[in-house]
Amino acid sequence: MTITSINPASGQELKAFPTLSKPEVMERIKAADDAYGKWRKTSYEQRKSILLAFASKLRKRKDEFATLITKEMGKRIEEARSEIEFCAEITEFYANGAESFLADEPMNVEGADAYIQYTPLGVLLGVMPWNFPFYQVVRFATPNIMAGNTILMKHARIVPQCAQAIQDLFDECGLPDGVYTNLFIPTEFVDPIIEDRRVRGVSLTGSEPAGAAVASTAGKNLKRSVLELGGNDAFVVLEDADPEHVLKMAVRGRMVNTGQSCVASKRFIVVEPMAKAFIEGLKKHFSEMKLGDPMDESTDVGPLSSEDAAKDLADKVQKSIDAGATVVLGGDRPDREGAYYHPTILTDITPEMPTYDTELFGPVASVYVVKDEEAAIELANDSSYGLGGSVYTKDVARGRRVAEQIDTGMVFLNQPTNSQAELPFGGIKNSGYGRELSHLGILEFVNKKLIHCG
Ligand code: NDP
Repeated sequence: MTITSINPASGQELKAFPTLSKPEVMERIKAADDAYGKWRKTSYEQRKSILLAFASKLRKRKDEFATLITKEMGKRIEEARSEIEFCAEITEFYANGAESFLADEPMNVEGADAYIQYTPLGVLLGVMPWNFPFYQVVRFATPNIMAGNTILMKHARIVPQCAQAIQDLFDECGLPDGVYTNLFIPTEFVDPIIEDRRVRGVSLTGSEPAGAAVASTAGKNLKRSVLELGGNDAFVVLEDADPEHVLKMAVRGRMVNTGQSCVASKRFIVVEPMAKAFIEGLKKHFSEMKLGDPMDESTDVGPLSSEDAAKDLADKVQKSIDAGATVVLGGDRPDREGAYYHPTILTDITPEMPTYDTELFGPVASVYVVKDEEAAIELANDSSYGLGGSVYTKDVARGRRVAEQIDTGMVFLNQPTNSQAELPFGGIKNSGYGRELSHLGILEFVNKKLIHCG
């Protein structure tokens, strides 16, 4: 069996990789476990020097890696370069910060000297998606490598070249064999890996069904898991927001990665006085966006990650239209080669439509008009998801008050939710659990061990 890389802008097959057999996977688990025995004893300085070399090479070879991303999953080249730059920042953040994040923590108890020591857990499995093929891996792997864990990585099947490039780069930087291991495997191999007693935890970023499958196997085997799943982020526009700024942020929030981001703004909830101008403005901006080859710097909207993704999006939008949604713009695929979808705006959305409570992974904005702030908060919270969200108002105190009432893991004021190395990232409800990035991200897969010297 092979895993094949296909350019979604053209449908052209780029490269195929053979998958591993079960015995080969068992060998890789053993190697990761053996490596853990040694890696856990290395100093922070040793780990740091390897990861700083990794960050530096990411920057030096930014164009090469960005091109790989763009060719393999269709991200616009400028965004692909930013992704690589961000990976270097995250790597440096953990390389430089791990020792202090994981420093012993004295406990305040009477009559005893007690402290928490943060120690690694062992071999971890990462199951990662294609939408940010370098970032998702780096976000999970670098804090855990710094913590002394070792990593097995099952990357999404549509980005095998990125998966291989990350492995090659760790190897080039001198990471010992078995500390980071890419596995080209079919999905059915994930469960037996989680079940293996040497594997101590699993982190998955992806869809709800994939998250539920992985979490249930982890649960049955009493393994720790972190899930970063989908989102249906609200973008709440109050009547005192700056209209021009709101439109700029709406385009940025919805069109990031051609709409294929868990924290893309997906539900635009606009109070009545702002609604007409918002919808007209968004239509103008979206219709001026140039659809095209993601390698072309002048392209605004690239293809989706695959033909399947484009078909799935088209199906969800069509079902919503059939159920009565109004199409303000788009609503269909362009007549051209590749996995493209037109920038789309839908209104008059009701709870029976797929648009209402499923994640639309593509350039489709759902606009809801509400009476006031209270109705906006109520609608924002009427979601199975709870990942991010944003609120637009010139009144910061009001914005903060509204943000505090939105049930998600992250809410940003006057800008769409985004990701930074220092800030915790993650959600609640069906968006998953656990946190990545920041000092919290490195604490997910460590033993918080109490040492009590009475
Ligand atoms: P998936 O969730 O299927 O893929 C994410 C990762 O999980 C991939 O490595 C995939 O492997 C793996 N996987 C899938 N099913 C299982 C399973 N049962 N057990 C173990 N691992 C599994 O995402 P899709 O690519 O199918 O995208 C579907 C939808 O998921 C999107 O439209 C979007 O709504 C959401 N999504 C959300 C992401 C996020 O950032 N939160 C990222 C990607 C998707 P393989 O590639 O081999 O199938």
